[in-house]
Amino acid sequence: MLKKILKGSSCAECRLCCIFDRYDVWETPVFTPEIRDKILEVKPATKFISKDNGYIFKVEEFSDEGLFSCPALTENGCILSDSKPFDCRIWPYRIMNISGRRAITIASICDELYNRPLSQLVDFLKEGLADEIFRYADSHPEIVKPYYEGYPVLMFETKKLD
Ligand code: SF4
Repeated sequence: MLKKILKGSSCAECRLCCIFDRYDVWETPVFTPEIRDKILEVKPATKFISKDNGYIFKVEEFSDEGLFSCPALTENGCILSDSKPFDCRIWPYRIMNISGRRAITIASICDELYNRPLSQLVDFLKEGLADEIFRYADSHPEIVKPYYEGYPVLMFETKKLD
């Protein structure tokens, strides 16, 4: 979804967004039941926790550096290829709830996009991505995270949540 502004090769070299520490457990992707089943086919020992209509993976153990990886991440990259969770397809854009209003923010951990001019990030949202994100969140509200301090807000939705 971000191919126009983010090269696949940049992501392949980085993978930071697939590795977490105990402070960003809340950032792990939300999987649909279909994606959860796909991961289980390859890694049957993976445990999941249900989250509204989706699933997040259960963190079993941290590495010596205090990190843990998404179970879909292998040495060759994400096993989900083109069927990654929506969260991952829009990364580093995030959708968050700020005092009852949905907004699109950006994660600072993605150097590649975070260092672009804000106007470029917002223009790309206006080209249709923002509508797509808000529409998906209508049917999958579990992807909307509570606002997390430090995430610059790029765009508010015009309507307030009920
Ligand atoms: S699902 Fe794939 S892209 Fe998303 S965090 Fe896991 S390994 Fe990374």
